[in-house]
Parts: sequence; C-alpha cells; structure tokens
Amino acid sequence: MASDQTGTLYLCATPIGNMSDVTLRVIETLKSVDLIAAEDTRNSIRILNAYEIGTPMTSYHEHNKYDKAEYLIGVMRTGRNVALITDAGTPAISDPGEVLVRECQRAGIPVTSLPGPCACITALTLSGLPTRRFTFEGFLPYDKKEKAEVLADLRTEHRTVVLYEAPHHLVRTLKELFDALGDRRVTICRELTKKFETVTPTTLGEALDYYEGNEPRGEFVLVLEGRSLEEMKAEERSRWESMTLNEHLDMYLSDGLDKKEARKKVAADRGMSRRDVYNALLGK
Ligand code: SAM
Repeated sequence: MASDQTGTLYLCATPIGNMSDVTLRVIETLKSVDLIAAEDTRNSIRILNAYEIGTPMTSYHEHNKYDKAEYLIGVMRTGRNVALITDAGTPAISDPGEVLVRECQRAGIPVTSLPGPCACITALTLSGLPTRRFTFEGFLPYDKKEKAEVLADLRTEHRTVVLYEAPHHLVRTLKELFDALGDRRVTICRELTKKFETVTPTTLGEALDYYEGNEPRGEFVLVLEGRSLEEMKAEERSRWESMTLNEHLDMYLSDGLDKKEARKKVAADRGMSRRDVYNALLGK
C-alpha cells in the first residue's frame, strides 16, 4: 500500500535454531509488512510456513547488498514497510544487514529493531566467563594482515571475547588463537538452542587436541577469557627479573616516568623500600 509517508525498515530477529524462539511482535510484523527481505529465501520459508506468514519475500544477501539496498529504499520511499530477516538471529550482527541500516539512515528512512535471539548473547550467558565487560569480534578477518592485528589486540584484551566460526575453519582458528594467546580458557558453544546443543568450558589447547581428532560439525561460538591480571603481572615480572636495578629503573624512565615515579615502581616491583632502592642506586 503506497502513501505520502515513507515506510519503515523493521529488523526482525529470528530463531538461531529452535523455531519457537520468535517473539509475537516479530510474527505480527512479518505478517503486516509489505515485503520481507531475507538473506536466504529458501531457508526463511521455513519460519514463514511455520507461522502462516504469506508476505512476499525478496533476497537480500552479501552479493547484492548495495544494489538491493537501493531497491528496498525505493520501495520504502513509496510508503511501504519492509522487514529484514537473516539466516538466523539478529539482523546486522555479522551479516549484510549492517549495510541496509546505514543506507536507510542516509536516505532518511526510519529503522527500528525487534529484539530476539542472537548467538553472541546466548553463548556469552552460558560461558561461565565474566559477562560484565565483553567484546564481540564476530568472525576473525580473512585477510592475513588484518587477522594478525586483531590477534595482537586480543593478547592484551582484558574483557571476555566472543567469536563466531564456521565448522570447517574451527581447527585453524583454535590454532591461531592458541599460538597468539597461549592456553587461555575458552567455552565452546555448539548448536545453541538446538537438539544437540553443547557448551564446553575448556582451554584453547584442549579444544584444539579434541577437534584435531574429531571433525567439527554444526555452528560454533567461542567465548574466550580475557587476559587475567595475574598473567599480566607475571609477564611484567619476567620483563624485569633478569635486569639490574639500573636497567629496571631505565625501563620505567624509557616508558616516560620521571625519576621519582620510576624509583617508586622499581621499589614496588621488587618489594624494597624506596630508600633502599635510592641507596642501592647510589651504590651505598
Ligand atoms: N546474525 C546472527 C546472530 O544474531 O547471531 C549471526 C549470523 S553469522 C552469519 C552466523 C554465525 O553465528 C555462525 O557461523 C555461528 O558462529 C553463529 N551461530 C548462529 N547460530 C548458532 C547456533 N545455533 N549455535 C552456535 N552458533 C551459532
């Protein structure tokens, strides 16, 4: 139905496995919009059939995301409403929905989001790792240089890290994470909300051993422990343990501390009094 008013884009979260995980508002919206843009229409027909939704569908995926965004914006400019659904979960999280949202914002088309399942949040809540502060990495970049930069950032990341991975890349990713971060704790969340859901708190090394001998199947989210304070302290300790007092002081001076602050840090590291450090440096 066309009108003078612009239509709205509705981001509709759909199940990540269990067909009952869909909100009433999503069902009502999918029934009432003029068009549903779906990442894979063959896949989305299941949910449409399950809830007797007869709305026409069109495809919106990685390979047509720019052209199709223009087309969908044209549809909404005529006053018609569009719902976006992706293969699973919340649109715009590690899928082409992000582009459509940005293009709608540029075009002045209202966008609203109907919350629901998301593999990231489902895995995080089951991980047993700290949830107060976390970071979502999605899939590691494909490009080697970009991936190396992300892995280097993760080395110092204190927050819990959530990663997505496809089964055929799981072993490679576990190995890259193990090589970059050491044997960190990780919770492997597999087939969430499905019949064979498994949540395994383990370590990167153990998970690697297991999946090298057992072909990974299904969908995976990895929830990785952030770098612990103890690990950071141990690394700092190993930095200065082999140094002389003067070298230890120089380390802090070259970090930009003034002499007084640097002596204070040296004293704290070595469990000495500041006076003893001062006297020792003077050779007393
Ligand atoms: N938009 C989706 C969301 O809200 O989570 C994510 C889409 S992304 C293209 C697909 C990835 O999400 C999969 O490769 C997997 O890492 C993760 N995923 C989706 N469903 C899952 C499930 N049931 N169990 C575990 N991981 C899942």
